[in-house]
Amino acid sequence: MGCAAEVITLDDVRARQQHQALRHQLHERFDRWLDEVEAQLPEPKATVAQVSETIWALRQSLTAGVAQTIVEQHHQGERDRQVLRCATCDRLVQARPPVSRTARTLVGDIELARPYFYCRYCQLGTYPLDEVLGLSAGQIQLDVQQAATELAIEVPYDTASRLFGRLSGIAISSERLHAVTRQVAEGLSVWDVAPSRAEIDQCVAQVAAGRFRRPVLVLSMDGAYVPSRPESARGRRPGQARHRARRARWRHEWREAKGFRFYLLDGDRIVHVLSWHQVQNEPDLGEALQEVKDAGLIPEEAVRLCVICDGAEWIWKHVQQVFPQASQVLDYYHCAEYLHRMAKAQYGTSEQAHEWVEATLTRLYLGKVGQVLGGLRRMYPTSEEARQAIDNCWVYLKEHRGRTQYRTLRRGGYPLGSGGMESANKFICHVRLKRPGAWWYEESSNQMLALRCAKYNGTFPQVFARYQR
Ligand SMILES: [Zn+2]
Repeated sequence: MGCAAEVITLDDVRARQQHQALRHQLHERFDRWLDEVEAQLPEPKATVAQVSETIWALRQSLTAGVAQTIVEQHHQGERDRQVLRCATCDRLVQARPPVSRTARTLVGDIELARPYFYCRYCQLGTYPLDEVLGLSAGQIQLDVQQAATELAIEVPYDTASRLFGRLSGIAISSERLHAVTRQVAEGLSVWDVAPSRAEIDQCVAQVAAGRFRRPVLVLSMDGAYVPSRPESARGRRPGQARHRARRARWRHEWREAKGFRFYLLDGDRIVHVLSWHQVQNEPDLGEALQEVKDAGLIPEEAVRLCVICDGAEWIWKHVQQVFPQASQVLDYYHCAEYLHRMAKAQYGTSEQAHEWVEATLTRLYLGKVGQVLGGLRRMYPTSEEARQAIDNCWVYLKEHRGRTQYRTLRRGGYPLGSGGMESANKFICHVRLKRPGAWWYEESSNQMLALRCAKYNGTFPQVFARYQR
């Protein structure tokens, strides 16, 4: 039997030795940590709660210690570096005495001493180890920033800071959290928070599986009111007692966050695809929709695209322009509400009003909008107000004539109500922005909205990666 000679290179030997040295150091660290735990356990027969509490309190000295040992060992060369070639002038620069810093990570505070290099000619200083390690400029590192931001887009900054500290044992002030969130969200556009075409295709394929007809992809547009404060409210220094005692001099206001949502219908279930909501004007919203279309994100040939909205004219204008092929639906409940208002003007609160609405909705349901329009023309107004209401109703139904064929739409599997948009308004806009005492500057509200869209679009990790770059 031939025995294959194992060739061991010098590099292998060195790597193995280093590995063993690291293991040895880590074991020693763990032993010291166990001594600490034993010393702090209240009594030999501790309860689970006592053991848990003791270890919880000490866990970061273990995890941060392990991380520190690994970092030190892996980057021994960089820590011992004596000279550096200046990136600007190419001169050799000597190391200055090591400087300590703290890197706050999810496993705890890692203490690092690293050499400093300063080129006198270029007047530039640098810590090469920081670059190799990918450290953030501030104390708080990216992993903490990401986790804390994810929490801050769910709950107010104060609560997020408190909960984060409680659950992770890592301190991050609400001011810092606010600053990080702003930085992550800066300049986000619909493009940054939208899922990729491949992700959308996958979503469509899952819903389409085993079905005869192409799935219905719904596009809905609407506005949600968010509590806002004007730009003029800026610039008050809270430290000035004279000002603090006074009431705020600005008036709060409610502004409309306009947005759109694409979602798939899977039986009774809604499968979220893409949302974009901002405090913005109509042209901006139209532009964002056009961007989604131009980026080829919507697989129009693989779905039956349907647009459902209330009566607002500007919405239909954008829809017609961007997705002219889509089936259009006037929200049934919105339509019913409209009819109720007209009936009230004409018949007051009598039973007749109710009957008229029921009959009209039934006719619309059966696709007999022509009959309804004719009926309105023949109706004898009971007052000037009623005449106006009847005229308006006629114009409204004429305008949306092709969007009220509710029975045909239902048979086609299209939605009749825009509940999917209402829920998006709630979970994207209201849940986080409508908080007692919270009034948002436009920029802040839009940054928060963009992050919340990213969360529901499943793109928060890529939004954070963009910030990281
Ligand atoms: Zn230089």
